Amino acid sequence: MSPQSPKQKTYDVVIIGGAIMGSSTAWFLTDNPDFNGSILVVEKDPTYENSSTAHTNSCMRQQFSAKLNVQISQFAADFVKNLPERIGDERVPAQVIQNYGYMYLADNDAFADILRENQKVQLEAGAETQLLDPQQIKARYPFYTVDDLALGSINLKDEGYWDGGLVFDWWRRSARDRGVEFVENEVVAISKTAAGTLVDSVTLASGDVINCGQVVNASGPRAARTAQMAGLDIPVEPRKRFTWIFSAQQPLDQELPLTIDPSGVHFRQDGPKTYLAGCPADPDPAVNYDDFHMDHGRWENHVWPIIANRIPQFETIKVINEWAGHYAYNTFDQNAIMGPHTTVSNFIFLNGFSGHGLQQSPAMGRGTAEWLTYGAYRSLDLTSYNFARIPENRPIIEKAVI
Ligand SMILES: Cc1cc2nc3c(=O)[nH]c(=O)nc-3n(C[C@H](O)[C@H](O)[C@H](O)COP(=O)(O)OP(=O)(O)OC[C@H]3O[C@@H](n4cnc5c(N)ncnc54)[C@H](O)[C@@H]3O)c2cc1C
Repeated sequence: MSPQSPKQKTYDVVIIGGAIMGSSTAWFLTDNPDFNGSILVVEKDPTYENSSTAHTNSCMRQQFSAKLNVQISQFAADFVKNLPERIGDERVPAQVIQNYGYMYLADNDAFADILRENQKVQLEAGAETQLLDPQQIKARYPFYTVDDLALGSINLKDEGYWDGGLVFDWWRRSARDRGVEFVENEVVAISKTAAGTLVDSVTLASGDVINCGQVVNASGPRAARTAQMAGLDIPVEPRKRFTWIFSAQQPLDQELPLTIDPSGVHFRQDGPKTYLAGCPADPDPAVNYDDFHMDHGRWENHVWPIIANRIPQFETIKVINEWAGHYAYNTFDQNAIMGPHTTVSNFIFLNGFSGHGLQQSPAMGRGTAEWLTYGAYRSLDLTSYNFARIPENRPIIEKAVI
């Protein structure tokens, strides 16, 4: 790191972490005519190479069991499909969502019932989820083995791949153009007022001490470490997730939905003739922040046999790329943790997105910008995700987690 000193000694908002959540929040602040403050984004690694954002699988879905999660993804779809107008810059390329859908597969009645319950919530929220029995799955997607299945669930509207990296790039570029200051530096300490109810400054690795009106913790898998600097606890830890890109000797002659196999392995179309697969580590403990070691045996002994069993045409496949990334895993309920700390009221969380933060970045960035501006959410009410639910022990149960 070559630390840069910020231009000023005081900012209204300091955002710790400049990846997709930090950049989204900065951009939405600049897009709000009621916000006139100064914004500093501190990012320790502007290559972002170890961020969750860089390791993502970049998909969105409407198939959640919590209505608010569906609404959050609906805003993402709307934002992405209208990107040039939303960013307000004609140089921004128009975007589409590659709508091959997520295919949830149930091999037992209990999970089939959950898919049926989820579908009701999703239809009510305006999604177009369809339930398919094994014969219907086979008729539409003849390549699957369906003998062991009880039910499938798929939605082909606003569900599939989108280019999260491009949206991230334009948020940063546009936020900079509108006056947000991004510096390469690391927040290494956070100090509070004597009463301990407000953060008053952050200290950077360069030694600069920056006074701040409000602080946003957008530090991804390092969220707990950052919170600790202010003496606060948050149940978020880095958990390893593996991704493989593979080619097939006999590619499928139709697009492969993002298939969530009952085993927990998922796979999807990735290019015209290439595919992507992913799964958690096993066992799946918290890992070191810098541990991106790949478990090569996991492909050969676990993932490949599962894929070949579900799609026999994929017996002959070859890995062409692979990586390990970190979820910022919320051990409390695997959902976003947002809003202010219960006693340190200007310390704002934007953490714990587990496996669905990319698609939540438009709604959560907008919501956090609203909170910073008004002390309330104005568009989508995100209060139920606020940090306060943790000390109050009110988990949000999301039954469709990947
Ligand atoms: C393998 C994988 C697949 C995924 N697939 C999907 C998907 O298909 N769809 C989806 O919606 N989501 C997906 N996700 C989740 C999604 O990618 C994340 O939720 C999202 O990228 C989180 O963004 P973030 O900005 O919160 O965190 P990060 O991208 O991790 O960014 C945090 C940033 O903070 C910086 N930082 C940390 N500490 C400090 C400090 N003290 N000072 C300065 N800077 C600091 C880091 O350098 C980093 O750049 C996936 C994640 C993984 C790992």
